[in-house]
Amino acid sequence: MDQYCVVGNPIEHSLSPFIQNHFAKSTNQNLMYSKHLVELDKFKETIQDLFSNGFLGCNVTVPFKEQAYAMCHKLTERAKQAQSVNTLKYEDGIIFGDNTDGAGLVKDLTVGKNIVLKDKTILVIGAGGAAKGIIGSLLMQGPKKVIITNRTISKAVSLANHFQHLGNVCYAEIDCIAHGVDVVINATSSSLKGELPPLDTSLINESVVVYDLMYSAKPTVFVQFASELGAVAYDGLGMLIEQAAESFNFWRRIEPSTDGLIETIRSSLN
Ligand code: NDP
Repeated sequence: MDQYCVVGNPIEHSLSPFIQNHFAKSTNQNLMYSKHLVELDKFKETIQDLFSNGFLGCNVTVPFKEQAYAMCHKLTERAKQAQSVNTLKYEDGIIFGDNTDGAGLVKDLTVGKNIVLKDKTILVIGAGGAAKGIIGSLLMQGPKKVIITNRTISKAVSLANHFQHLGNVCYAEIDCIAHGVDVVINATSSSLKGELPPLDTSLINESVVVYDLMYSAKPTVFVQFASELGAVAYDGLGMLIEQAAESFNFWRRIEPSTDGLIETIRSSLN
């Protein structure tokens, strides 16, 4: 049976084995997908061991995406843009790397939620690994503008410079953004701590779509905050599922159906 896995630290609560084994079953692929806790200083040798023991690919999660990027022989264009890799594939002694986070987010927004990004003004809050993974894919949708803001503004400046060649992207201090935004994406980890980025409440209203990359059984603090201000607000569970489907396709060249998975997984979260 072909072997795949997710690697990270921590890894215990990863939903990837459930999602990938579901895809395997629904597409009649004879594969087994497991999870592996990797010691913080042993990423490269663990991956080499897995591949020499017959594994054909893996998903990579926190905090190893940059190390995964560094060890690839061949990268997809979107992995090069993100400078990080969440999907590794091993074929004929070559390590291929992809980053499916941005495509996963865009698929969930545009197909899952029917949201048009073309000609829209998109605000991305956060400039960490997740922001880096999504901005290229957002720009490929032809928005009017992507504005990046971050608590540490120098990181937003670097990201805006990094993605300049892909479209209209700029940075702004969070307290200088007061109106005219169509889509707000929270790519910070603030919701993990139950905190909110200091966003002007006048930015969010019933005509704004809000998306928090974090997900949980109950609405995240950011989703709750935006819903109370009248916005349509979503969490990142759909993105998680769609980025997994993109990884599956990268390995098996089959697009699995994601229909109904959000509801199935949401009901199993606690
Ligand atoms: P990083 O640690 O790389 O970056 C964290 C970011 O959050 C930084 O921009 C940081 O700002 C900002 N931040 C942290 N705390 C606060 C706060 N209290 N107020 C304002 N800003 C804050 O994390 P990632 O980018 O990897 O992950 C971000 C989120 O995205 C996580 O919640 C993660 O779970 C989620 N995610 C979801 C995915 C999905 O499939 N749904 C996929 C990948 C990530 P500063 O630079 O100033 O420190």
